[in-house]
Amino acid sequence: MIENIYDVVIAGGGLCGFACAIKSAWNGKKVLLIEKRPALSWEGTWANQLNFNVGNSSVTNLIVDELNKVGGLKNGRADAPILEMLMDKLADKNGVSLLLYSYPVRLIFDDDLAYGIVIGNKSGEQIIKAKIVVDATEEALLWRQTNTKIRKDLSLPTGKQTIFFNHVEGDIKLPMKLDNDITIYPSVWEGEVCVEYNVEKCDPLLARRKMPEMIKLVRSEVPQLKDALLTHAGNEPFPDTAMVEFEDKSIEHPRIKNFFGAGIWSSDAENSPMGRLEIGEKVGQILSKCDGVKDFPTDIMTGSYFREPEKASDAIVIGGGTGGAISAIASGRQGVKTTLIEASPSLGGIGTGGAIHVYCAGTRGGIQDEMDNKIAEISPLFLGKWKVVGFHPEAKKMILQQMAEEAGVDIILNTVISGVIREKGKYQTKSDEKVTTKAVAIPEPYEEINRLLGVIAVGSNGVSIYRAKVFIDSTGDGDIASMSGAPFVIGRERDNLTHTFSQPAEGLNKDGNLYGLNFDAGYVDPTDVEDLTRGRRLGINLYWHDKFTPENRILHIAPIIGIRQSRQIIGEYQLTLADEIAGRRFEDGISFMTTFYDNHGFDYENESDEAALWVWALGNFSRRIGCEIPYRCLIPKNVDGLILACRAISLTFDAHAGMRMQNDIQRIGEVAGLSASIAVKDGVPVREIDIKKLQAMLKESGILDEKYRPAPAVEDRPLELPTGAEIDESKTEALVWLSTYKGKETALALKNLISSEDPNMRFRASAALARYGVEEAFQELLRSVKNRVSEKTKGAKSVAIWEASIPFLGITGDKRAVPALVEVLKDKNATLDALIGALRALERIGDKSVISDIKEFLKRDDLPTKRVLQSSSALLKGMSPAVDDAKWQIELASAETLLSLGVPIDEVRQIVEPHLKDNRAYVRRYANKILSM
Ligand SMILES: Cc1cc2nc3c(=O)[nH]c(=O)nc-3n(C[C@H](O)[C@H](O)[C@H](O)COP(=O)(O)OP(=O)(O)OC[C@H]3O[C@@H](n4cnc5c(N)ncnc54)[C@H](O)[C@@H]3O)c2cc1C
Repeated sequence: MIENIYDVVIAGGGLCGFACAIKSAWNGKKVLLIEKRPALSWEGTWANQLNFNVGNSSVTNLIVDELNKVGGLKNGRADAPILEMLMDKLADKNGVSLLLYSYPVRLIFDDDLAYGIVIGNKSGEQIIKAKIVVDATEEALLWRQTNTKIRKDLSLPTGKQTIFFNHVEGDIKLPMKLDNDITIYPSVWEGEVCVEYNVEKCDPLLARRKMPEMIKLVRSEVPQLKDALLTHAGNEPFPDTAMVEFEDKSIEHPRIKNFFGAGIWSSDAENSPMGRLEIGEKVGQILSKCDGVKDFPTDIMTGSYFREPEKASDAIVIGGGTGGAISAIASGRQGVKTTLIEASPSLGGIGTGGAIHVYCAGTRGGIQDEMDNKIAEISPLFLGKWKVVGFHPEAKKMILQQMAEEAGVDIILNTVISGVIREKGKYQTKSDEKVTTKAVAIPEPYEEINRLLGVIAVGSNGVSIYRAKVFIDSTGDGDIASMSGAPFVIGRERDNLTHTFSQPAEGLNKDGNLYGLNFDAGYVDPTDVEDLTRGRRLGINLYWHDKFTPENRILHIAPIIGIRQSRQIIGEYQLTLADEIAGRRFEDGISFMTTFYDNHGFDYENESDEAALWVWALGNFSRRIGCEIPYRCLIPKNVDGLILACRAISLTFDAHAGMRMQNDIQRIGEVAGLSASIAVKDGVPVREIDIKKLQAMLKESGILDEKYRPAPAVEDRPLELPTGAEIDESKTEALVWLSTYKGKETALALKNLISSEDPNMRFRASAALARYGVEEAFQELLRSVKNRVSEKTKGAKSVAIWEASIPFLGITGDKRAVPALVEVLKDKNATLDALIGALRALERIGDKSVISDIKEFLKRDDLPTKRVLQSSSALLKGMSPAVDDAKWQIELASAETLLSLGVPIDEVRQIVEPHLKDNRAYVRRYANKILSM
């Protein structure tokens, strides 16, 4: 965890900063390395496969040795994914602390001394104190703040963009130079080549605009590449020269004694990986003789350093991902001046930069159809004679960019919003800590409405303010809404855990086609960049091998981490799972959604009762559900001037599992873009636009075309009750679900089934009747648990019926279940979820007599604590599935149960307190929640 004071803080985790960090650590300094991207050594990992030779520095030689050991260096080139994993490992092994996703926004200094830096990221602003400060940013972001004279400011020098082709046919003599300054280099891997072309400005937008022409040229001039597969591209071009030149080149600041510069702008070293590593190591050596600051001032404040004049637009879309890119296109096409600000170097979000380039479920219609047709048209250029599973991510990046540019959208990449300006209160640079733990209850009333006026943007040029009439929050995480003071819920009600995340990557499948690797890597708190850093590091390291081969290599680590769920902003309506299952319609319906209950859950004893009923009792995990989305889900409570267009719209935890697929989010993007255009043109707040007007536009665009309307999975109307004898399996499904809402009368029709021959039928009926005090249902559940009925529940996420019966036994609240549940706690063969289920059930039953049993249970040293997460069947050879150490789940569930049974907080604190120091933010959050109960 980030500490209070460091010996050295280094802003910029490129090769210079990395070498400086390692050398400083070797010299005994406590170092924090801060990088704006989610990867270290961006030159070799982000801009891809640079030349790497033995150099004059020990850090270079260490990297080269390690790369050679694992097979990551060949033909003078370092493999980008291997280098990314290796740099991370080396930082860890040498005791360098890391914070990714974070920009330096201000040097804290007086004339003589620097005291640290202020950093900005999606979690807000933060002060990092340090005895010595190093600016290792490409742009000299901090150095510029010290009145040092600039000779030339080339914020965008010329650069080189790299694209990669696999399945090169026949021999090819490399390196090869073509016209148009194209050079083809060998890669680390046989059958792969890197093609490098010049971009006039080191700008990813320009590099992408030029890409089709370059691909055509290469294919026509090099027969070996005619049919090859363009698999991936560098995330950004690599600059040919330094971005800034100062009058005096120096690595020690002329006035500020403990401030150093480690960039190619601070030295005469060559602009190559070796040159950069040498500078860093040199600075690391020089600063080891500096003691730095002894006393820190007490009144250090956060606050950004603004270099750029304020900018204004009519509509600003924050987050150019799945929802946001379409939002901007929709708004721009209506003639509204639209700016799109995106943190990563491309458009499309998780579907492109996140390597999740497959549509799974969701509803078609609208601009997305036009976009996908264009992607299909351009795809052969990328694919050659090969295929891609889903759509080609590079093609989608390009088409989105093209469509946005044609719509007149001003696209700003590599820029993150770290704060907002709102009418009440000045800068809101940290998200409100208004985390409600109830997933369903909407906190009322809100007396104040904040009006969002501007956003604080942190990018390569430093910090800027953007103002607009309407803002669209497409950050996925609801960053802007939360910064503006909108309430939100996060994670499930019991322990606030969000869905598992993935760290996707690109690979070649057994047929040689391009596919995205996707699996559950663990849990993370996406609103906290420190935890996001931990998650990214955990995720990339799952791809590590002691020896990389063509069979186990990955092509490219996705620059965007795969966050499935984060905040759900509470809007004017909160959609529920029941709405989705019933195919509900709304007067202000503006879109449809269809999918299945995709919650990536394992432990239904920790999920809601509805989820346990739908998945465990009914086996309905994969069943299609779908409904209308009301406009109110896009309008955050408590904030004006803002509309949501991403997975953070107002949904309950359960509803989110169904409402996040790319097709459905792209639709929401279009809705928000059109709504913003109406608000701008009619001069009204987004919450007050004419819905009928919006609906008419959506009918025209195809979003509200009736052919896409989903049918209810279970109709929300009274069933004609069949007599017991007539109830077959298909009817029980509706009956079991509806009985939850329609009451005991409906449910009693299920009673006969408790004596069915089919154990699953018995379980279903008794699970549905558990809440109504039906004796036969209670007895059936109890019998299942006591006899350890081992038949499996139906459908995906299947478990033994006895295990699935436990939560429903808890719902009965019947004390007669206590002995059987205590027996589960003693059972050496019980699974992790059966044990937690028993604790949760005992908590609901509320019998104090079990306190001593739970204390005894906690003394067991043989408890199963490994949660093996879901892995895809197509995983690379030798990769093992991720594992979460779930001891926290057992201990904190026990603590919560003991507390609810009346055990004094001081005693419970002893169980909880060790978890407050856990390095996983979600564990700390749950521990804190228990202590604040
Ligand atoms: C691992 C995984 C697998 C999935 N599998 C599928 C699947 O197979 N099929 C399917 O249809 N759906 C799938 N989904 C769901 C779907 O892809 C996502 O729910 C959907 O794409 C989310 O869209 P979004 O616009 O909300 O977020 P994103 O597409 O993530 O876009 C958010 C954008 O905002 C940017 N951003 C974030 N914060 C800031 C900030 N503060 N300032 C500026 N920019 C910011 C990000 O860089 C990003 O580009 C999957 C999701 C995940 C994570």
